Amino acid sequence: MQPLSSRSKIVSNKTMSWSERLYIPAILAGLKVTLHHLFKKKVTVSYPEQTRPHSKFYRGRHVLKRDDQGRENCTACGLCAIACPAEAITMVAEERQKGEETLYREEKYAAEYNINMLRCIFCGLCEEACPKDAIYLTDTISTSGYNRDTFLYTKDMLLEGALPETRIDIQARRKGQREGAM
Ligand code: SF4
Ligand code: SF4
Repeated sequence: MQPLSSRSKIVSNKTMSWSERLYIPAILAGLKVTLHHLFKKKVTVSYPEQTRPHSKFYRGRHVLKRDDQGRENCTACGLCAIACPAEAITMVAEERQKGEETLYREEKYAAEYNINMLRCIFCGLCEEACPKDAIYLTDTISTSGYNRDTFLYTKDMLLEGALPETRIDIQARRKGQREGAM
């Protein structure tokens, strides 16, 4: 029969010799390959115990920032949700009440703020769109999970303070961006 491509290979059907039937040369050849790799530097890391160093431009999980007085920056304007190409952000806006000035910086705030991390593609457009310096992507890796609900991040998971290291991460990333732009 005419082969369909020039890549076809003729498979030999010859009977195996006595030494080939022992399989010892083949086993030794396999062990040689294993031993060769045993003493080489590992290319894998044992995540999550170990992590690789990230680029200074790495975009990880989000944080909702507070101002210097600890008030939430977000004013629930919705620009991040509009900018999001994955439609991952949803929120519910509410009006700040008297006596809540220490909690929310603006007269309107996000009573609910959710990000569906299964949709998020970590593009950073929400960060770019925000006029209030309220949302940033940190260099913290998004957590893993066994069910879909784990990936629906609510406001209490996103607010600054939920991750103690986020302030440092953002400062380092901003510094990296500035240096990269120069
Ligand atoms: S990083 Fe991109 S995809 Fe993720 S929430 Fe922000 S805008 Fe949407
Ligand atoms: S995070 Fe920024 S863009 Fe998004 S709703 Fe809050 S203030 Fe508006």
